[in-house]
Amino acid sequence: MGNALAISGGPRLTEREWPRWPQSGERALKSLEDVLASGRWTISCAYQGRQSYERQFAAAFAEYCRSAMCVPMATGTASLAIALEACGVGAGDEVIVPGLSWVASASAVLGINAVPVLVDVDPATYCLDPAAVESAITERTRAITVVHAYSAVADLDSLLDIAQRHGLPLIEDCAHAHGAGYGDWPVGAFGAAGVFSMQGSKLLTCGEGGALVTDDAEISNRAEHLRADGRVLRQEPVGVGEMELEETGRLMGSNACLSEFHAAVLLDQLALLDGQNARRVRAADHLTGRLTDMGMTVQDTSPGTTARAYYRYMVRLPDEVLAVAPVDRIARALTAELGFPVMLTHRPLNDNPLHRPASRRRFATDARYLQRVDPARFDLPVAKRIHESVVSFGHEVLLAPLDAIDDIARAFRKVLDNVREIHR
Ligand SMILES: *Cc1c(COP(=O)(O)O)cnc(C)c1O
Repeated sequence: MGNALAISGGPRLTEREWPRWPQSGERALKSLEDVLASGRWTISCAYQGRQSYERQFAAAFAEYCRSAMCVPMATGTASLAIALEACGVGAGDEVIVPGLSWVASASAVLGINAVPVLVDVDPATYCLDPAAVESAITERTRAITVVHAYSAVADLDSLLDIAQRHGLPLIEDCAHAHGAGYGDWPVGAFGAAGVFSMQGSKLLTCGEGGALVTDDAEISNRAEHLRADGRVLRQEPVGVGEMELEETGRLMGSNACLSEFHAAVLLDQLALLDGQNARRVRAADHLTGRLTDMGMTVQDTSPGTTARAYYRYMVRLPDEVLAVAPVDRIARALTAELGFPVMLTHRPLNDNPLHRPASRRRFATDARYLQRVDPARFDLPVAKRIHESVVSFGHEVLLAPLDAIDDIARAFRKVLDNVREIHR
């Protein structure tokens, strides 16, 4: 029984405690008390005589992304939908979306009444495949959204070239990629707009939050209207007790403002991000060396990448192993050895139980529209193959010391050596 896998009742490879996520910094508690006492819990309440945390975070994050402007928002999904609308996308327009992503990539498009066109990904980077994008463009295409997925940066050179040739805005979804770089420049600053999620699992988080960054003053102004019920921040100084948001009526919006509590936590977290990302890269490089020696292929990134941000660490299992046991059983066996969740990729969006446009009456306008948004009409063979061959785990694990990272390599060795046992 000494070598038996933990999943079949043998001893676990390690009993160690793994790092958890999120982790709060030293400033957060003080800042949160400050917000509580300030008399202003959101920018949509009256000005109280000093700069809001929301404005402080907007300035800090714009600088971090080397972008001229940042519009913070309540969620990443809202940021994505608002970025599309700010770029002029609307009812019936087609938007190119990577077929291997979180459901928000498609649902944000549906949310503005547009049509997500699911496009396949690159087998090495798991990010949007430029050649597949090119062949999915029609006369109804109005935007391309790209996700820098898991730990990769997409092939921005090719995608920007395609976007430019077709006169389409490229929107970068950086929900996995806070701090990643391409050509020595931060992601999010390449497209017409970059959007971020600060939901609780992300590399920069306040529980629920989001942001849009851009160099385009018109996109920023439209995004401000869209996220604050048609109001924008006044340019001129306001007095205590006055509203900092001005009702222009130029563009109707809805409410997706980020609260002062969330902005305060984000400022605290932003100060920690680069240090955490550097530790993740060190651990990931170490593990990649060990796993490639065992014949595994880890997720690659585009050649222009100058800094990786690991949201999830992704490993493709060898074909001969997958011929013995399916990927989900192997993930469960690894989970049993290690004591943290080893997961699969997202389910491809053409076969994902969370992506069901027909289940919502607001989208079900007519049969033709339902046909256009039907996920099953898209073919995503590469995404499917990745989903059936890749295991992954979350970025918090990469904050563990290197001897713990060695345990991960040992667990892979043990499971692969005993893969026949999984089937019994
Ligand atoms: C998390 C995520 C989003 C959505 O962000 P929320 O803040 O959860 O709304 C969008 N796109 C991708 C790729 C994500 O992972």
